[in-house]
Amino acid sequence: MTMGTDSRMQPLRHGDRGPAVADVHAALRSLGLLLATAPDGEAPALESAEYDEATELAVRHFQQVRGLSVDGRVGEETYRALSEARWSLGDRLLRYDPERPMRGDDVTNLQERLLELGYDAGRADGMLGAETEAGLRAFQRDYGLTSDGTCGPATLRALRQLGRKVTGGRPQLLRQSASFVESGPHLIGRRIVVDAGHGGADTGFAAGETTEADLVFDLASRVEGRLAAAGATVYLTRGRSQGPELAQRTAFANDARADLFISLHMDAHSSEHARGVASYYYGTGSGASSTVGEQFANLVRREVVARTGLLDLGSHPKTWDLLRMTRMPSVRLDSGYLSHPVDRLLLLDARVRSAIAHGVLAAVQRLYLPAEADPATGTFVLPDKR
Ligand SMILES: [Zn+2]
Repeated sequence: MTMGTDSRMQPLRHGDRGPAVADVHAALRSLGLLLATAPDGEAPALESAEYDEATELAVRHFQQVRGLSVDGRVGEETYRALSEARWSLGDRLLRYDPERPMRGDDVTNLQERLLELGYDAGRADGMLGAETEAGLRAFQRDYGLTSDGTCGPATLRALRQLGRKVTGGRPQLLRQSASFVESGPHLIGRRIVVDAGHGGADTGFAAGETTEADLVFDLASRVEGRLAAAGATVYLTRGRSQGPELAQRTAFANDARADLFISLHMDAHSSEHARGVASYYYGTGSGASSTVGEQFANLVRREVVARTGLLDLGSHPKTWDLLRMTRMPSVRLDSGYLSHPVDRLLLLDARVRSAIAHGVLAAVQRLYLPAEADPATGTFVLPDKR
């Protein structure tokens, strides 16, 4: 694979040809999603490799399994996921490099094994960071191996021998839940990053003068006000007219050492029938997810639905970079469709945006309440501090 992942790339799609498409074919073949050879038995020249129907189908399949947005195209996220999926545990030495953290399915596998064994290896996100290294060193020390933080043949052997003995329980997830309960019901001292989607040249969906970027900024300001009034320390990822890159938003949240990250969007669809509220949290749909993120995604969606009457579209696990690169529980909320006539009328109403902000506040508050004190959805009202 030769395309850079740092530079912005045009998504590859149906009808494209060339070496980049040949790269995608090679990756899909190595994953068993495409036939090993073309039906006529001869691999085509790189230049004539074509992004055909079979390619698109295989890409859709891959995206679905990995929890990516399913569009049948290979953009940056899908490209990166394809690159990472090539690695299986044992293919290469794994070690922590702060400059260029190693990424891949082999890293995810290592993290999952360490977590199964009760070692705190961070989130199983496929990026080998300092926490994973610390977990690996602790494992090596306990099992009489050289504690060098490098996963080589001896460490792999030990992991394979032990890996299957422990079943059930996901220590990392339990640990994450426990620290949330311990931190008590107050928002004082909580650091919450509120991300208004889009901004700057990127307006999001636009209907005449009204843009998604403006509406979600207004909503973010309302959320900020309510959370701050409840004692939380709140940071916005952008000002009214700014449009930071995704990586800047996630780095901002990480640098702020936020306890919680919420990204606000409104959706749009070419079908004017699409409407409702959906929320998204980090997860692959097959195990490794953030319980707190999932819990918050459910709470915030239900609170918003209960206060606005918008249709409930559920909460869904996604591996989007926005959710993955943030180190704290992270949720994206899409509150209504600007392309739907009724949703749009509601969202243009400041009182409805205020109700959504109240729903977000209630969800944050409920997240920090012990289960037995948790009030019914739509009923929780914070005591006024003023
Ligand atoms: Zn958006």
